[in-house]
Amino acid sequence: MAGALDPSLLDQPVTALAGAGPVTAARLAERGLESVRDLLGFLPLGYEDFRTLYPLSELAGLPAGHAVVVRALVRRVRPFFRRLLDVYLEQDGVQVRARWFRPNPGMVKTYAKGNLVALAGCLRRAKDGAVELIHPRNVTAFMTGQAGWGGESGLGLRPRYPEVEKVPGRVVEKLVAAAVEQAAGLVPDVLPLGMAKRFDFPSIADSLRQIHQPDASLSREKLAELLAGQAPAQRRLAFEDLFVAQVGLARERDRARHARGWRCEVDGEAALASARAALPFMLTAGQERAIRTLYADLGSTTPMQRMLQGDVGSGKTAVAFAAALLIGRAGGQSLLMAPTEVLAEQHGRTLTAWGGKADLRVGVLHAGLDAPTRRRVLAAVATGAIDLLVGTHALLEGGLRVPRMALAIVDEQHRFGVRQRAALRRAGGWISDEKTGMFPHLLVLSATPIPRSLALTAYGDLDLITLDETPPGRQAVATHLGVGEAARREAWAAVRTAVVAGGQGFVVCPAIVEHKQTRRTSVLARFRELRPLLAPARVGLLHGQMPSAEQQEVMVAFRAGKIDVLVATTVLEVGVDVARASIVVIEDAERFGLAQLHQLRGRVGRAGQAASCFLLTGVRDSETLDRLAFVAATSDGFRIAEEDLRRRGPGEIYGERQTGVVGLWLRDPVGVAALVERARQEAQALLAEDPALAAPEHSALRQAVETRWLRRPPIAEEAG
Ligand code: ADP
Ligand code: MG
Repeated sequence: MAGALDPSLLDQPVTALAGAGPVTAARLAERGLESVRDLLGFLPLGYEDFRTLYPLSELAGLPAGHAVVVRALVRRVRPFFRRLLDVYLEQDGVQVRARWFRPNPGMVKTYAKGNLVALAGCLRRAKDGAVELIHPRNVTAFMTGQAGWGGESGLGLRPRYPEVEKVPGRVVEKLVAAAVEQAAGLVPDVLPLGMAKRFDFPSIADSLRQIHQPDASLSREKLAELLAGQAPAQRRLAFEDLFVAQVGLARERDRARHARGWRCEVDGEAALASARAALPFMLTAGQERAIRTLYADLGSTTPMQRMLQGDVGSGKTAVAFAAALLIGRAGGQSLLMAPTEVLAEQHGRTLTAWGGKADLRVGVLHAGLDAPTRRRVLAAVATGAIDLLVGTHALLEGGLRVPRMALAIVDEQHRFGVRQRAALRRAGGWISDEKTGMFPHLLVLSATPIPRSLALTAYGDLDLITLDETPPGRQAVATHLGVGEAARREAWAAVRTAVVAGGQGFVVCPAIVEHKQTRRTSVLARFRELRPLLAPARVGLLHGQMPSAEQQEVMVAFRAGKIDVLVATTVLEVGVDVARASIVVIEDAERFGLAQLHQLRGRVGRAGQAASCFLLTGVRDSETLDRLAFVAATSDGFRIAEEDLRRRGPGEIYGERQTGVVGLWLRDPVGVAALVERARQEAQALLAEDPALAAPEHSALRQAVETRWLRRPPIAEEAG
């Protein structure tokens, strides 16, 4: 542990730890895990209890997924070439199968008939109903001559981490353990000591240790607490995250209140007339109202702090366009950030067309551009030849200079974090209000209503306007809930009918590739199956791991009607707007949140035609069916979001799926709301006392606010 005293170890790349080579590091980086600090923040999803030795006879009575250690004689070994290895264990006349897929060639040898072996693993219900051990670990070596299991390396309580693509779980586990061992003690305590005491929180170092390496002697009650995300260590991490965010928000709010914004002293009525002339439809009264409200904000010297809330399809883009148009006429530049490249491209296309009729010059920037194009766009923005730059989180990366930066627009804000919205304001080389005396206006667009309890906290800095009217002629999407294969066949028949009638369809699957364990339906498998099945309809494929250019090609082909049915992951979830799309089939619907299902459903019927949605599931438990039936019966996005919150908790109020603290803990929404509120009160009390966080005991906090707040934010994840 040579590095144990070096505080910089926290910020060193994961390769500083034994066992992480450049290839592993690159794969971890794709998951947002770059530094040792990131590994410490990679929290387990749950724990497996390998402390009890079970007799084989008891396994049948345990639930699937239960972790056990068994010790028994090998009765029979059946290797199936490289594909499969089955080992039958026997004890007191009871036989249980252990099964490995793609076993290592050498493994067979370790299971000779008649040997006594010990295996640690999770139970699974096989197709024939028998209980089996799936991919257990051979722990025979640990058992020689000793009764005590707990504490033996890996045999106590084992954390279960989220999957990292192409990095084996064992490796992730080992690296996090190394990070905890060498670096947990280096993490500074951000919460002032007095506050941590009042809440009775353990120190940050202890919290991290308890979460990553729970004590093997943990009682059942304490383990249950940990599994529920309610352990003091978990509460501390969650609270700290909320608290830092609240301090950051409060300071941001303060800064905006005291700074000057880009004042648009131009004729709002003329700008509105020009927007009307550029748009291919009549603005609804609601849109006009929203635009006038924004124009009033933009005409004042105080930086605007607005959230525009409106259900899926309510026409928020046109309102954002009108705002950017006013800014452009006043000589300022705007940035619009969207969560996916597909959406950024779509906005680029739409806004370029509208802008062309209103003298608003629009550009697009995302990571998928080739280098010359990227350079050209950056140069055009820097010379002021682009008034509105549309992009992804690539806007937040270096190299962008926006000399007349006046307005930051965040689309689909629930896919970003509060920190990213602050970062977008600072994108483009805008440094500090002290220097320029200017602070860009902010407009965030959201389809997800924020419940009142949280609106106060995560969005307390924003003034709200609501688009409560959808464009004329829209019909509710007829939504069918279907269980099992017969329902799936019905759905395909409906897709065929829709295509024959001149419509287009989406088929949404939760995974890109097949996962043996999770059994999620994959786009690749479904695509292969549907292509012949739906012929002559032309079937296309879209997911977030396809090269950017290919994704764009597919979207262009779909928009042009050269593809009839698009099999896709949730890259479609946000914003995608294709007029002819009239049917969407969602596989494994139980895997999605209610608000997410509503968003996906919002992809169809956008031109006012009759449209339908099939929610397919293989799960038959009543809770799941209830949840899905609720979405099927309700077309009001606001009610759906509230129900979603009630059932799942505000997993992503801060929108940062990667860091996950907030996403992981506390299923109970009331508890979360209360904790957020506490964090807000504490933040305000502390800032009232020490607004600049200048006191020495606040220096770790100040640093956390500055780095976490303004650091390059985690990349919004595209599910898939
Ligand atoms: P969202 O609020 O979900 O972002 P969009 O801005 O993408 O919605 O608008 C949804 C669709 O409705 C788009 O195809 C858009 O062109 C269309 N639309 C927006 N406003 C109107 C309107 N006033 N009349 C008719 N169609 C409209
Ligand atoms: Mg939108």
